[in-house]
This record gives sequence, structure tokens and C-alpha cells, in this order.
Amino acid sequence: MNPPRLNELAAAAAALLARERECFDAAVLAVARRCAERGRLSAPRLDAQQVVCYELALASAELLAAQTVLAEGSGSTDIDARLALAFAAEAIVAVLGRLEAVVLETELSRAPLQAIAADERLAELRRAAAGAAALAQLGRDVADTDVEIGQVELDEPVAMARDAFRRFAAEVVAPLAGEIHRRDLTVPETLLRPMREMGLFGLSIPENHGGSAPLEGEDTLSMIAVTEALSEASLAAAGSLITRPEILARALLSGGTAAQRAHWLPKIAAGEPLCAIAITEPDYGSDVAGLALKATRTSGGWLLDGAKTWCTFAGKAGLLMVVARTDPDRSLGHRGLSVLLVQKPSYEGHAFDFVQDGGGALRGRAIRTIGYRGMHSFDLHFEGLFVPDDGVIGSEGGLGKGFYFTMAGMQGGRMQTAARASGVMRAALNAAIRYAKDRRVFGAPLIDFPLTQAKIARMAARFAACRRLTYAVGRMMNDGGARMEASLVKLLACRSAEMVTREALQIHGGMGYAEETPVSRYFVDARVLSIFEGAEETLALKVVARSLLEDALARAGEGTQ
Ligand SMILES: Cc1cc2nc3c(=O)[nH]c(=O)nc-3n(C[C@H](O)[C@H](O)[C@H](O)COP(=O)(O)OP(=O)(O)OC[C@H]3O[C@@H](n4cnc5c(N)ncnc54)[C@H](O)[C@@H]3O)c2cc1C
Repeated sequence: MNPPRLNELAAAAAALLARERECFDAAVLAVARRCAERGRLSAPRLDAQQVVCYELALASAELLAAQTVLAEGSGSTDIDARLALAFAAEAIVAVLGRLEAVVLETELSRAPLQAIAADERLAELRRAAAGAAALAQLGRDVADTDVEIGQVELDEPVAMARDAFRRFAAEVVAPLAGEIHRRDLTVPETLLRPMREMGLFGLSIPENHGGSAPLEGEDTLSMIAVTEALSEASLAAAGSLITRPEILARALLSGGTAAQRAHWLPKIAAGEPLCAIAITEPDYGSDVAGLALKATRTSGGWLLDGAKTWCTFAGKAGLLMVVARTDPDRSLGHRGLSVLLVQKPSYEGHAFDFVQDGGGALRGRAIRTIGYRGMHSFDLHFEGLFVPDDGVIGSEGGLGKGFYFTMAGMQGGRMQTAARASGVMRAALNAAIRYAKDRRVFGAPLIDFPLTQAKIARMAARFAACRRLTYAVGRMMNDGGARMEASLVKLLACRSAEMVTREALQIHGGMGYAEETPVSRYFVDARVLSIFEGAEETLALKVVARSLLEDALARAGEGTQ
């Protein structure tokens, strides 16, 4: 497709998206009014509108991704510009469907949506950018190109960090990743040691505390680039190692005393000790405000009693960030929670029993999982485990603020998870292309068939859009914003990783289902991304939709904050 034609289609897509955005804004306001009581969103009303709120959150993610990749289009390679158009064409149709479902539940007219659907320019865009012939050609070109797809502009230091970690991932992590997964091994020191030396654990810790993040502001792009590079080789044994220090460091930075920051941050940055995050409990996951693990005052500190679950890396870690209820008055909800730092020995394997001299105990048993193997996720049982007073983040002043300290780490954790999804998608896409070129079916290479080519094009378009959106939101985060967008890109990228790994596995046929084929690992690993760091539904309803509705009421002058 020649550049003038690309520009013409991009302008048509941008115009259609702008009209769709108007319909979206009207739908959001209509739903917001249904959910409001005296200018404020009411929880029972929001719950009654869950289904439409979920559609709005997904539509919002698709719209933002399409508008972002189109806006960046002029600076992209030919293939990226065509991938952006293919993504936008399919996103416009998907969003039309979602908005139609929302509008049917309101008094709004369907006419504006029907007008977009009937617009000849949409038909032309779909034919030219995402029609059968266009997708087949695009897929062929993606498979044949040596040029990186989903390109993003990076400053030199970020690009250098990415390249170093990509080399390390390909040469050191990838050869071990399959065995760690199949034998459910613990991430070995042969991986951890060099990652410590490369400064992985200090990426989100400021320079004056032993890390490499700037003293002022954020360096989200390095974190994204490094995470993506490592996740391409292994989500569990490399790409996810940084999530835990990210969350704990931000909790310490937002609420720790000067002494706690000075003591712990350099150690966390050095990866000694490794850390783990214990928030989820058997009875409370998404509903963090309900957490029940009991912390009872004792002489010089606190005693922890109760259970946590899904605490990833709890065995190997020497430092656990534990969210506990320090105020027994349960009516306080999230205001009764504090964050305690538990020190323990580092254990290999799938189970451990840690008994303190005074008799307090912490027992851990790894949960058997279909994927995400290497760090192991543990059920934890606390029995009178002693934590000294200086182990409470923020000390006395931090009591009751644990929820906020925990949430301070979550925005970074979500961005990091979007980057993890991008890494897994890139691995799956490349594996699918390699296999489709090698495998012959009905006398021809699989890649020669238009359906395979169209699948590759769609996978590549999703990957490129999510990747570019991740970096765009990362830049917003550097500028101090993006609270809602971090959830939004996490939502989209993690769903997309499921789609991309599904298609990659499918292209491998029976071999895709064999444990020895890496793509089967990508598939089971990708599945967890929509569950943790904020489950998809929780993010869609409680963060994205809520924020969209509040903004709509405020813009209409109807909100009372
Ligand atoms: C491999 C793995 C590793 C993990 N690592 C850690 C870790 O290191 N530390 C840690 O603390 N936790 C960890 N988790 C736990 C994870 O964060 C939780 O699983 C997640 O928060 C969801 O909580 P839940 O499992 O209790 O699901 P629930 O909260 O019980 O939710 C069940 C389902 O209902 C949906 N849902 C929730 N609320 C609503 C609602 N209001 N309306 C409609 N639907 C709703 C959810 O989205 C989900 O689909 C890990 C989980 C996994 C699988």
C-alpha cells in the first residue's frame, strides 16, 4: 500500500473513531446518570449496571489503543502503519458491538451507531486494511520481514537496557525456561545471580537508595522494556521477578520511615533478600478491604495469626510484605489494615516450615499450577509469628494505612503486567511464524495459506497495538498520570495475550499441545495474566468504569466529589 493511500485510510479511521468516541462519551454519561445518587456513584447502582460497565471498560481500552496507534502512525514503518490500520478497523467494529449492547440498556438512540456502521468509509477501511486479501498480504509481510514490529521510540539508555536484557534472555534464560516449567523447578541461582548483577531488582528504586530510578519522577519505560525482554524468554522464571520488588519498594517509598527506607531499599535493589507479597487470603482476593489475617500487639511488636494464599516466591524470599489487620474492629474495613515486613530464611522447593525461637511459626506449601512455574505460589499459615515494631511500614504512623501503601505499588505492578503480556505475545508470535514456515500441510508450507497469513496478521496487529499502548501509558506515568490507563492497558494486553497465544498454539496443531513445545507454556502462562495484579473484572468495574463514570458526571457538571 503506498503512503498516500495509507494516510487516506488512517484519516478515515481517525474520523470514524472520533465519531465513535462521541457515542462512547454519551453512553458513559447515560450509564453514569443511572449509577448516581445525588451526584455520587452509588455502589448498589453500580453493581446493577455491571454488565454495561464491563462493556464500557473494554470499549474504552480498544478505543484508546486504536487512537494511540493511529496517532503514532505517521512515524511508523510501513508494516506498523498497516498493522495499526488493521487493528483500528477491527476495533471500530468491536466497539460498535459493545456500544450497541450498552445503548440498548439506555434511552439513547441507536441512530448514531447505525450511521457509523453504515458509513461507506468503514466498509472501505475494513476491505482495504482488514479484508481477506489485505490480512493475507500483511501476514505474509510480517512473516517475511526482518524489521521489528510494534516499534516504539526509546531513549538510548532505555534501548541499551532492553538490548542487554534481550541478549541475556535469549542466551541464558531461554535455554533453561522449558525445563523449569516441565519439572516445576525453583528459579536457579544461575539466573538470579546475573540478574542481580545487571541491576534488575533496583529498576524502580531511586539512585540514592541503591537502585537506578531517577530521584525525581519515574523511569517506567526502562521497567517496561526490561520486563518485556525477560518475559519473552520466560514469564515465570524471569519476566515476573521484578514485580515483587516493584510493589514493596513503592509501598516503602510511599509510607516507610526514613530508617526503613535506608535499611531495606538498598537490599531490595541488590536482590538480597528476594521478596514476596502476601495480600490474598483464602476468603478475600479482589475484595482487599475485607482481609482478615490478624496482627495482635505484644511486647515489642506484633503476632501474626491466620492464612494467606497465592504468595508467589514465598519460599525463596527472605522478606515478605504482609498486609494484616492491626485493628480488630472489622467495621473499619480497609482502614484497619497495615503492612508488616516478615523476615525469614530462604528455602528451595515447594514447602517450608519456619519456626522462630519464641515458638512463632510460618508454614508454606506451594499450590500446584498449570503454568507460571519457577517461583511457586504458596499457601501460608501464620501461627503466632512475631514481627518487631520496626517491621510495620510507617511504624506507629503507618498503622491503618496499609491499604494505601499497597495500592501505591499497584499502578506500577499493572504496567509491569502489561509489559509481561507484550513479552509473551512477542514470543508466541515469533514461534508461530517459525513453525508456519517449517511445517508443510497438503503439500505446501503452512505459511502459504491465506488463513494462516490472516491469523499471523491479526496476532501481530494485537501485539503491536498493546505494545505501543503500553509504552504510551508508561510515558503518561512518567509525567505523573495514568492511574486509570495503567489498569486499562493491563486489561487489554492480558486479554490479547490469551488470544495471541491461543492462535500461536493452534498454528502448531498437535505439537502445540505437547509440553515440550514452548508455545504450550506461553499459552498456560498467558492465562494467569488476567487473574492477578487486579483481576480483569475488578479492574474493569472498580477502576476503569468507575473512573469513566465519575469523569463523565464531573464534565457534565453533575458530580459532587
Ligand atoms: C499464579 C498466581 C500468582 C499469584 N501471586 C500472588 C502474590 O504473589 N501475592 C498475592 O497476594 N496474591 C497473588 N495472587 C492472587 C491474585 O491476586 C488473586 O487470585 C486475585 O486478586 C483474585 O482474587 P481471588 O482469586 O480471590 O478471586 P475472587 O476475588 O474470589 O474473584 C473470583 C472471580 O470473580 C470476579 N469478581 C470479583 N469481584 C467481582 C465483582 N464485584 N463482580 C463480578 N465479578 C467479580 C473476579 O474478577 C474473578 O474472576 C496470585 C494468583 C495466581 C493465580
